[in-house]
Amino acid sequence: MSRRFLQLALISAIAYGFALETGSNYRKIHFDAFVVDTHNDVVQRMMAGEDISVRTQHGHSDLPRFREGGLDVEMFSIWVPPEKTALPYYDQADDQIDTVKSFIQRNKSQVGLALTSADVVKLVNTGKFVAMLGMEGGHPIANSLKNLERFYRRGVRYMTLTWNNSTDWATSAKDETDSNANLQHKGLTNFGKQVVRRMNALGMMVDVSHVGEQTFWDVMKVSKKPVIASHSSAWTLCHHRRNLKDTQLDAIKDNGGVVFVNFAPQFIDSTFTAKEKIMRDRNKARIDSFSAAFRVNDDFLRDQAIAEFLKNEYRPIRPKLKILIDHFDYIAKRIGVDHVGIGSDFDGIAVTPRDMDDVTFLPNITRELLKRGYSEEDVRKILGGNFLRVLQEVEKK
Ligand SMILES: [Zn+2]
Repeated sequence: MSRRFLQLALISAIAYGFALETGSNYRKIHFDAFVVDTHNDVVQRMMAGEDISVRTQHGHSDLPRFREGGLDVEMFSIWVPPEKTALPYYDQADDQIDTVKSFIQRNKSQVGLALTSADVVKLVNTGKFVAMLGMEGGHPIANSLKNLERFYRRGVRYMTLTWNNSTDWATSAKDETDSNANLQHKGLTNFGKQVVRRMNALGMMVDVSHVGEQTFWDVMKVSKKPVIASHSSAWTLCHHRRNLKDTQLDAIKDNGGVVFVNFAPQFIDSTFTAKEKIMRDRNKARIDSFSAAFRVNDDFLRDQAIAEFLKNEYRPIRPKLKILIDHFDYIAKRIGVDHVGIGSDFDGIAVTPRDMDDVTFLPNITRELLKRGYSEEDVRKILGGNFLRVLQEVEKK
């Protein structure tokens, strides 16, 4: 055996040993760690009548699968689709909160609602799955600070100031970049600033995902507490208006906030949208006939159903897991491991990256971060430690 061959053999034996080490360890590290996801839209499926107490055959999450993914805390998104106008936003949001609370009540031996960081710790220590509430889009407060306080009392612990549609007091990324938006104002109005100040005073996290850049910078000036981006990724890696530019990431670091990475293919992979269009054009007839037969008049659920229907077509164009991990890595390297976490958007996105089919695949994030050389301590921060820190900061009086 030549000396060089011996060296190579030794190196590969060490590498193999390392692979075995991380291979057997990553699941233990993941399941021992405190794991949090700050954005999931499964409430929309619950509102359509699905019972997520039991394993479901589609979508990305349900109670058994949350547990299989090693998740400890899920922030359930209270989101009112703009196309539904039968009931005011306030009432629809209230109904969604009732639905989540009744799910918790029906499963109270396994699930608890957390209102504070102390609740989170207590519930996790008793082995319960922790549900928290986040509101996506400030429309349900109907321009009233009293309503904001009502939602806080009902348990809402973050509010994304806008969705794709602006509120009367904050402009969204979509409207700020859409030349047809005809904006009356741009950024936060005076009332919008009052909303942010009241959220700070209440101890409700201000969420800057979905907001336009002007709104973002106005928030950073007004907020006295750390902010979160509950489900956004890095603009430098994928130029999508829902992502955060480097200067925004830097500002979140300075503010002590956390960016929770969104898994949506169109936000993480700059080549995805074009590939998807080609694939969908090729399947137009199938999609049209499927849509026509789809009885539920709901864009959100219909898009999910179409993605499921086209599963085999989507398979080759779904981004590799590496592309998702690149966003965690980019943000951690730019602003530090203390400022990044998981904001999957499961059940709010129609398609997911490869090897991240649903919430049960979350341990793959731990595996990949360890493989990239992140220490166990750093991985624990990303998985959930950073969330707990930011929640504690925000609830301080
Ligand atoms: Zn969203």
